[in-house]
Amino acid sequence: MPPEASPAGPCIFCSIARHEAPARIVYEDEGTIAFLDKFPLSRGHTLVVPKGHVDRLTELPREQYTPLLSTLSEVCRRVERLSRHYNVGVNQGALAGQIVFHLHFHVIPRYEDQPTFPRQRRGISDEEGKEVHGLLSRA
Ligand code: 5GP
Ligand code: ZN
Repeated sequence: MPPEASPAGPCIFCSIARHEAPARIVYEDEGTIAFLDKFPLSRGHTLVVPKGHVDRLTELPREQYTPLLSTLSEVCRRVERLSRHYNVGVNQGALAGQIVFHLHFHVIPRYEDQPTFPRQRRGISDEEGKEVHGLLSRA
């Protein structure tokens, strides 16, 4: 697959980053861009995107960590004009809800009248704790 394609075809976020596809861009610099989500979950739902195409965070070159986090923080600062309450998230992989396979952070403002994530959590057994800890604590 060419680098700027996704399973769904040409990459829409690459087109937006090149200013070929329309978007309500709220911030842009050399390596990153942020724009309003076309189908927002709430008022002000914004996407923060590296301009270079990578599917996911684990493919992002290290030198882009700081610029991307800096843009994310700047967008969060501005979103606080709408609400001090917001979620920052990344969906990685189709089972996690990723539909655009170009890395992006969601910044989703929350308001009084909107439900947040489900509060119910399950417990974790010792066995599961050990196994998952073993998998994630190695480099
Ligand atoms: P994902 O589910 O991949 O984490 O999120 C993709 C997001 O991109 C969704 O929230 C969706 O509404 C948004 N989106 C999809 N196509 C477009 C588009 O053409 N323009 C903009 N601005 N957002 C889009
Ligand atoms: Zn792309």
